[in-house]
Amino acid sequence: MPSITQSKTNRFSDLIADHRGLIGGIATAGVVLAIVGVYVFSWGADGEPPTPPEKVFNAKVKRAISAHTIKLKSDERLNYAGIRGPYKDEPLFEEALRRNKSLVEGRRIRMRYDKEPKDGKDRVRAYVFADEGFVNEILVREGLAYVRLTPGERRFATELLAAQAEARRNRRGIWKQKPVSTEPRYPADPKYGNFHRPSCEEVAKIKPERLVTHKTSRRATDAGCAPCPKCRP
Ligand SMILES: [Zn+2]
Repeated sequence: MPSITQSKTNRFSDLIADHRGLIGGIATAGVVLAIVGVYVFSWGADGEPPTPPEKVFNAKVKRAISAHTIKLKSDERLNYAGIRGPYKDEPLFEEALRRNKSLVEGRRIRMRYDKEPKDGKDRVRAYVFADEGFVNEILVREGLAYVRLTPGERRFATELLAAQAEARRNRRGIWKQKPVSTEPRYPADPKYGNFHRPSCEEVAKIKPERLVTHKTSRRATDAGCAPCPKCRP
């Protein structure tokens, strides 16, 4: 188990830089530097090297913008990792936003992330924990968000997929109607965690070496792909 520390600094990006500096220091000097909070190292019984401690970032949420985007008090925007909620022109957008507001708006949250806290477009992406629990997972379990796994965002894949299976089994929210596969196949792009109808213009943009084909839409969602908002498979 990685140990956890808390920090009270306000800006998430400063914290990330601070954290990286700390990890670098550990790697090069082999010493533990406690800058903020307390870091605890434990050697495994089998003599394995210690796992670097994980730092958990705190922040206060100014407001929720969608089911998967929030603005922090520091004015930084943060996207939830591993999921996507309905976009503005998709069903349940308002309901999912309302639920996200009730979970995080005006509240103090804790954030964890994958290896990189930012995606290719420099957006901060994190797993968010609030009073009610793991927010990303709660939204998926209530049928208010899809699991959307990409190669860099798989840390909570098992938990999120289990939550999605539960939502679908109980026909919650976006799973109210049983998904019916009307297409012979569903091309998916694991890089972006999306799947499409074969006729979607986005399919042509998928590099052949990345293209994965699912037989049914259910298999695509079970693989952690979210439906493309354009072709809505
Ligand atoms: Zn599409």
